Amino acid sequence: MKSELILKKGHELRALLDSGEVSSVEVTQAFLDRIDAVDGKINAFLTVTADLALEQAAAADKRIKEGHASPLTGIPVGLKDLLVTKGVRTTCASKILENFIPPYDGTVVAKLREAGAVFTGKLNMDEFAMGSSNENSAFGAVKNPWDLDRVPGGSSGGSAASVAALEVPIALGSDTGGSIREPASFCGIVGVKPTYGRVSRYGLIAFASSLDQIGPMTRDVKDAALVLDGICGHDPKDSTSVLKESTDFAGALSSGIRGVRIGVPKEYFVEGLDPEIERAVKGAISKLEELGAEVKEVSLPHTEYAVAVYYLLATAEASSNLARFDSVRYTTRVDGSDLIDTYKKTRAAGFGEEVKRRIMLGTYALSAGYYDAYYRRAQRVRTLIARDFDEAFKEVDVICSPTVASVAFKHGDKTSDPLEMYLSDIFTIPLNLAGLPGLSMPCGFSSDGMPIGLQMMAGPFREEVLLKTAYAFEEATDFSRVPGL
Ligand code: GLN
Repeated sequence: MKSELILKKGHELRALLDSGEVSSVEVTQAFLDRIDAVDGKINAFLTVTADLALEQAAAADKRIKEGHASPLTGIPVGLKDLLVTKGVRTTCASKILENFIPPYDGTVVAKLREAGAVFTGKLNMDEFAMGSSNENSAFGAVKNPWDLDRVPGGSSGGSAASVAALEVPIALGSDTGGSIREPASFCGIVGVKPTYGRVSRYGLIAFASSLDQIGPMTRDVKDAALVLDGICGHDPKDSTSVLKESTDFAGALSSGIRGVRIGVPKEYFVEGLDPEIERAVKGAISKLEELGAEVKEVSLPHTEYAVAVYYLLATAEASSNLARFDSVRYTTRVDGSDLIDTYKKTRAAGFGEEVKRRIMLGTYALSAGYYDAYYRRAQRVRTLIARDFDEAFKEVDVICSPTVASVAFKHGDKTSDPLEMYLSDIFTIPLNLAGLPGLSMPCGFSSDGMPIGLQMMAGPFREEVLLKTAYAFEEATDFSRVPGL
């Protein structure tokens, strides 16, 4: 029984916990044992909080016995290491925050804590969430559980790999330009990026504030819906969080997709797309049609500008956000001859190469002589990209595409060419620029056995139709598998 527990999804564990068949302490211990056994190979965890987890599990068991469990009570959850956790080291996978112990919980962490979730640890990522392969972590790359020579995707690579490797049933990631969906695709799991404003960003260490959103990474759609129900909602501490009533995405999953209108964007099925991916995604769209959806082609004509726009806006925001790591607060300080010298030495030693590249790009884009040519123009094109989606979503409910144009690539394949790495985000970035919800879920495997991801996108605050479409597809197919580790 004990080793079988790690195969269970969150909602399956819920049933076992509520019936009293197992305790949260047993469940938690099973996952901690799994972390011990496999994380040496995967490197998904930066910090394992075994004592805290077992303490929370014991409290959860008490709460379950008393009969007031909520859906996540007693269920282990892993947190991407940019979510601020009270008393638990939070590094952003950066040397500059190597010893940062936050004095408070971010809102999402606090919500999960109140719900009785069990925190087993903090997950590896690209430094400050900048990257698509998890090779930019100051604490070592993460390995893809399907093939240890390959990357798990990024920046939430530790979150995706830990879920795929059964180290944790549920993880949280963040998505600024694809960082939940791309690693979910590479590791064969489900990842949801909510509508901008749906989930509070308070206590999420900021990369690009107008794009960042926290979301669930899970082994199936039902768990994703349950977690989303648990973390979304208005938060006065985040002025961009929206006033919406509480949600019941999990309750609405099985209402069926008859009449749901599916759009296929022609700009996403172009040269360079791996034919195996095209086949799998088109197969998934046919399956949705069989299930009662209506399929039609749509156009998102400004897609080709998205990567350029994103890498101007995201770097501009990052250059400003990361100014706070000034050697006076939070950071691991390197003393210099005076204050300016201390800033310089601390930042030179503390930030990795990619983070420095982005700070420089962003500072340049915002500099007086170039602001109009770069930053302002990028903002205008961002509006055009958002309008493309507005138009398309007048005609359809959900847009389906590949999540990424390839399966997970090998470690080192793209590290020498940052531009090639940036271009791999072409299908995920437009959604962030438009602030819309989207997800990735498995829809097939390549001939060499790597998972292929299907992306679904929806209009603002239409997570319900997104999740029920994904659920219908998942129920009718069998692509959610476990790698043989
Ligand atoms: N890969 C993108 C980047 O490097 C997206 C990162 C993210 O979503 N955090 O910026």
